[in-house]
Amino acid sequence: GTRVRFAPSPTGSLHVGGARTALFNWLIARQQAGTFIIRVEDTDTARSTRASEESMLRDLEWLGLKADEGPHVGGGCGPYRQSERGEIYRQLADKLVAQGAAYPCFCSEAELEAKRQAADANGDDPKYDGTWRDADPELVREKLAAGEPYTVRFKVPAGKRFEIDDIVRGNVGWDADSTVGDFILLRSSGVPVYNFCVAVDDALMGVTTVVRAEEHLTNTLRQGLILEALEYAIPRYAHLSLVLGEDRAKLSKRHGATSVDQFRRAGFLPDAMINYLTTLGWNDGSDKEIFSVDELVRLFSLERITKSPAVFDMAKLRWVNAQHLRLLPRPELSALLREHLVQEGLCSDDGSARANAFFDGVAELAVERIEVINDVAPLVEQVLGYDLQTAFGSADAGSIVGDGFEELCAAIVASHARGEMPTGGEADFAGAWKAWTKAIGDATGRKGKKLFMPLRLALTGALAGPDVGASVQLLALADGRSAKLMPMA
Ligand code: GLU
Repeated sequence: GTRVRFAPSPTGSLHVGGARTALFNWLIARQQAGTFIIRVEDTDTARSTRASEESMLRDLEWLGLKADEGPHVGGGCGPYRQSERGEIYRQLADKLVAQGAAYPCFCSEAELEAKRQAADANGDDPKYDGTWRDADPELVREKLAAGEPYTVRFKVPAGKRFEIDDIVRGNVGWDADSTVGDFILLRSSGVPVYNFCVAVDDALMGVTTVVRAEEHLTNTLRQGLILEALEYAIPRYAHLSLVLGEDRAKLSKRHGATSVDQFRRAGFLPDAMINYLTTLGWNDGSDKEIFSVDELVRLFSLERITKSPAVFDMAKLRWVNAQHLRLLPRPELSALLREHLVQEGLCSDDGSARANAFFDGVAELAVERIEVINDVAPLVEQVLGYDLQTAFGSADAGSIVGDGFEELCAAIVASHARGEMPTGGEADFAGAWKAWTKAIGDATGRKGKKLFMPLRLALTGALAGPDVGASVQLLALADGRSAKLMPMA
């Protein structure tokens, strides 16, 4: 079956580019009832941290990209951290040496540097000159016996051409020995180099398709040579083009939020992220832009990935998120907004029926007006923070909405004093609100725009904004805040 892997280096946080790579692998695995492996590439001990690994795994989980095999879930091809696979790499390096596909090199770093400088001065190729490639076996045995430090180098076969049929980029090939010198597999410290680990792990983990960033395309040559020497199958490759910022430069921190964690905290939905990230460099051939995760699992294909770089468009992502918020079942939206408002300390929540009604009202009011969950806070602040008194006292209110504004305000105050104004507790608030506004209209001889514009100004303090009735209901339902209407009485 299909086996794919996401192989993050835990040296920071999960960014959108990496998340997209993980996602494409995951989609393929789900679509083909295959296996999605997470492998942590932490051989760079100076830069790798466990905290980074934890945060990346948490972000993947938040996106819903659950691993079938990986450091946290185990599996039959573990361990899944390269730092724990040292013995495997050493054994395979020995094997390559024993079969003559690799050899010990006793050049010191100083010697190598001198060679590089000499080559540079002569305008020669600075790659390793093969000093120890065909060394006298007797001399090698002596040096080994004497415990001299050595690296293990891969013997790049002479005249070798290595080609892949990349799913995204088509045929890509290299003349091996004119591209790379005999490269190191194990450093003198015994630490394996990155490309060796990747090749070995892809083989031993049974990876059938490697989907990764374009920047790794050139590594494919070294990895392929190692795989061939070990007589392992060559996986299929799909090298994904870059994700660019709107200025067409490689997406980076200066473009604003780029890590998954930042999007999570900004109030994006995981399914909206999945939707948007999948459309970065992929389309289903139609104009469709909003997809559920299930649809993507069904429709996605590596063959339809575009070769040109994708541009990350923040406004587009926000729009996609807004669509997904609207598609949520209303109780779910209400719960998400509730959690955010409480967490922000903007609303208290005693779990009462009144609180439920309040937060449902918030969801109703917000659903067409927010793009991300966090947008709800300023919206609620706008509604709850309004001070009726101030609007009534506003000198130019009349000039904005015309004559008779004071009279309208007086009618509202009188109605409120008689307890006629809907309080939010009505079974049919919309009906009660309609009846009440009609009564105010009748009392002041107004209707239509002449009624609703000044009414809006009187009750919300602004000429534009969310639905007036819904705002008033919310004000009334917000415990403690409904008192705002009281001084008017
Ligand atoms: N560890 C590499 C990275 O984080 C991925 C290598 C690969 O996918 O082969 O960029």
